[in-house]
Amino acid sequence: MLVVKKFGGSSVADRDKIFNVARRCIEDYKAGHDVVVVLSAMGNTTDDLIELAQGINPHAKQREMDMLLTTGEQVSVSLMAMAMQAMDVPAVSLNAFQVMMYSTSRYGNARFKRVDTERIHHELDSRKIVIVTGFQGVNKYDDITTLGRGGSDTTAVALAAVLHADKCEIYTDVDGVYTADPRVVKNARKLDVITYDEMLELASLGAKVLHNRSVEMAKKYNVELVVRSSLNRSEGTTVKEASNMEKLLVTGVAADANTARISVIGVEDKPGIAFRIFDTLAKNNINVDIILQSVGRDGTKDISFTVASGDLEYALKILEDHKERLTIREITHNEEVAKLSVIGAGMMSNPGVAARMFESLYNSRVNINMISTSEIRITVLVAEKDIDKAMNAVHDGFIMSE
Ligand code: ASP
Ligand code: MG
Repeated sequence: MLVVKKFGGSSVADRDKIFNVARRCIEDYKAGHDVVVVLSAMGNTTDDLIELAQGINPHAKQREMDMLLTTGEQVSVSLMAMAMQAMDVPAVSLNAFQVMMYSTSRYGNARFKRVDTERIHHELDSRKIVIVTGFQGVNKYDDITTLGRGGSDTTAVALAAVLHADKCEIYTDVDGVYTADPRVVKNARKLDVITYDEMLELASLGAKVLHNRSVEMAKKYNVELVVRSSLNRSEGTTVKEASNMEKLLVTGVAADANTARISVIGVEDKPGIAFRIFDTLAKNNINVDIILQSVGRDGTKDISFTVASGDLEYALKILEDHKERLTIREITHNEEVAKLSVIGAGMMSNPGVAARMFESLYNSRVNINMISTSEIRITVLVAEKDIDKAMNAVHDGFIMSE
């Protein structure tokens, strides 16, 4: 059996933790398996390196940033190999160059294009544990790239895919994927399984358990993932394709306070206006999320939509600059809003999920500002001050009653 095991920064933050990870990998090795380990940088190394760079040049080129940031992973893989060797187990550390993990050329946000397996197979054949740097790639200029923050998960999935691994385990400092953030929702519980699509919806809502692209890739290549803790033996959560039996009505509830609402008031009620507004925003790289349009009255209408908080100021400026062309009478905005979503693959075939969500919100007297849905998700916009209360109410309304 071939296993890929990925450990995040908190799992290799110090000497004891490095030996703890080494022991867990050696267990698999001694059971006769081929073991490939992917590591993140130790603790907060990546953040510290970014800070260091900012002190030198706040406008550092992304190429140099990648050169700098990838050193973090190189530290952890070499130390891990030394730890295993100290325990008399043959191990070798490799970076993206040595494995040959080719990526697109985009520094800071590269994607894998092709990953060679020859070197890894060669090392496994001589019964070594192979330890690979997460987060990095090599582009066509023979430069080192990074995959974006949290990208080590994607390295692990890419390797599991090309090596046809029997298992891909993502170790972290939590027991798995929860039905809601356990720091906010006291009744949150760990899930045994979740589908790729549900995980993708959760990840894009800011549940930072897995790198979004790692889930996309796992789905594409059908790599079953297990998210589990490096600190205990709990079974963790399996991320895989849905089987009908397992489809839960609602798997999780997620909140995102990093959102703001903008309303453009009194725009002309005629074809092409919505197109012009959203085209202008898109051309300026502003992502728009929930959109709500009022019924036209006296030849005008209002359109509201949400953007990420970080984009608010820029979006307002763009709209102000184009106010006349877009026929806008007035622009208003509200930063004190948050998104609340319920996610579940079972929604597709079960009516009434929205009604039940709204009932829970009504019971706790939380007002709904806007609503949007996908096949497996319902999102509402509520006041930010209500978000914790709303999250608990909706969570308990679904999860506790199943
Ligand atoms: N060390 C990188 C980061 O902090 C990559 C990772 O941990 O997945 O973003
Ligand atoms: Mg991570």
